[in-house]
Amino acid sequence: MDEFDLIARLATCTQRRPGTRLGIGDDAALLEAPVGALLAVATDTLVEGVHFLPGCPPRVVAARALGANLSDFAAMGAHPRAFTLALTLPSLDPDWVEGFALALGRLADRHGIELIGGDTTQGPALVITLQVLGEVCEHTALRRDGARPGDLLCVSGVPGEAALGLACLLDPALAAALEPALAARLVARFEHPEPRLALGSTLAGVATAAIDISDGLLADLGHVCRASGCGARVEIDRLPDSAALAAWPDARARLDARLAGGDDYELLFTLPPQAAARLPEIEGAAGVRIAVIGHMTAEPRLLLLDTEGRPMEPAQRGYRHFGTA
Ligand code: ADP
Ligand code: MG
Repeated sequence: MDEFDLIARLATCTQRRPGTRLGIGDDAALLEAPVGALLAVATDTLVEGVHFLPGCPPRVVAARALGANLSDFAAMGAHPRAFTLALTLPSLDPDWVEGFALALGRLADRHGIELIGGDTTQGPALVITLQVLGEVCEHTALRRDGARPGDLLCVSGVPGEAALGLACLLDPALAAALEPALAARLVARFEHPEPRLALGSTLAGVATAAIDISDGLLADLGHVCRASGCGARVEIDRLPDSAALAAWPDARARLDARLAGGDDYELLFTLPPQAAARLPEIEGAAGVRIAVIGHMTAEPRLLLLDTEGRPMEPAQRGYRHFGTA
């Protein structure tokens, strides 16, 4: 298998979409420009040994790469249409390529996006860069800078599960200490992140700010606070829980995962207080649970309250780095 066999396989891995005038095979892809909307573009790179473990199955590489990129679109309330793929590989293993193309195509088709081009190079480690292209409504795009004091702070899903899933993969003894179904749930949350595109669309025009959690809840909340020029108060008691989280034996590691664990790709967003009544409707439309974990404050700092309502300092460096104005 050579470079052109790889490109030929990738060229048929996703379904054709209307709006793509010219896909893989020429010097550039040609797309119809959005009408009455803005062009949205996001890029994410995953590096072997940094974003996924060496020897990671190709279906997991595909799921994490596409998940991370589409999650950025979800966090903007944007609609993805197409993507490019830049691959650096140490060697070409036909089985790896087939597993990757199958998983990439299946996921991309599920989200209605087409692979329209890319680049292929040989290099010392597996590096994969995706660029997603799509559209977003100018007036309802979900930016990081719109949160206001008094807004409710909300999060989807169960942040922390992915980080504990990675811990299970790194140390099988940790996984063995859990019920197999719960360990499998945590690992799946790490290996197959679910980009919250339906939630992002539902929040467009409703939420005042949004971000996806890729670096940890507190770190990403820090980005929203800084961009919006306000602070936040987070109540530990209100963080979403799950059977798998609750079963984790080390309470300290569990709290660290919930506050500072990356890789969940859940959405963190702010709602004007009067939108609270719409939460059940938003949950229904998005198909994911939402928790109100605190609110935004005028004072530009991040305050964390423990289960007794007392201010607390978490252990993570993420907090110190992003927590103060
Ligand atoms: P050039 O040398 O002109 O850059 P390439 O040989 O790199 O051309 O690419 C040929 C075609 O294959 C282009 O349409 C390009 O977008 C596509 N392509 C190359 N690598 C990939 C890849 N990893 N995934 C998808 N398309 C690719
Ligand atoms: Mg090229």
